[in-house]
Amino acid sequence: MMLSVTMLSSYIYCPRKLYLERVLKFSKFPKAAMIKGTIRHHAYDAIINEEESLIKSIQNNETQNSIFKKYKYKYFALLKEVVKKNKKSLKSVNLGLVDTFNLNWKYIEKESINRSQEIYLYKNKTGYFGETLWDNLTPKIKSEKRIFSTNLSLRGIVDQIEVHEKGLQIPIELKTGKMPQEGVWLGHKYQIGAYMLMLNEKMNTNIDYGYIKYLDYGEKRKVHMNPFFRDEIIEIKDKTHNLLNSKIIPDYVEDKNKCISCELKQKCHSL
Ligand code: SF4
Repeated sequence: MMLSVTMLSSYIYCPRKLYLERVLKFSKFPKAAMIKGTIRHHAYDAIINEEESLIKSIQNNETQNSIFKKYKYKYFALLKEVVKKNKKSLKSVNLGLVDTFNLNWKYIEKESINRSQEIYLYKNKTGYFGETLWDNLTPKIKSEKRIFSTNLSLRGIVDQIEVHEKGLQIPIELKTGKMPQEGVWLGHKYQIGAYMLMLNEKMNTNIDYGYIKYLDYGEKRKVHMNPFFRDEIIEIKDKTHNLLNSKIIPDYVEDKNKCISCELKQKCHSL
């Protein structure tokens, strides 16, 4: 049975929740936080998909400010489009279009400042512009890549991939919500680790790091691979597989704080 990589992080969060969702097919109502997260992901996808044409339009005489303006206007228009497309789901959780746009814009605008600065510095350093700038730019960022491994029995969608010279691909997971004080949340660590293993197998490379990007904080945190971590990922994958084939509902999660915001709380506690 091919497992989705997100099931591994769900297993780490609460095996019981994963069981209720996947085996007993308990559905959860979409929460405002989930919809906000989806919108943010879609906005980042749109931004990345449009970057090629944006960079190719950069001319030799462009200043830092003119490049920034290009980025800012493009990102503004893309976010507006994404918010409009999600009008229905926003309405279902009583979120307004303008509020949602404004909430996201403060993060997306920061992205436009950072990325336009990177591009300006690269242009200045190399003297490239237009198509040559795009062709030589490294790393390039690609959005959403479907990936699977028959050896590991895992499938998933990597949010972003940094493509470096010689085709080296570094996975990046985008996360909304709280960021831990140090490092990354455990479920996020296993998720990005699994993507590293799958990319290594597919590309026949030896990627030994990946990133979790905490969007609300604009921070990208590195996760390293090592042989022990590899074994732990396989172990969690096997445990998840066994859980999904079991006839026994797992016990409640130990950390009761997790139950506070759980969408399945009522159903879970009525069993
Ligand atoms: S309420 Fe708690 S124990 Fe139940 S599924 Fe949610 S997180 Fe797990």
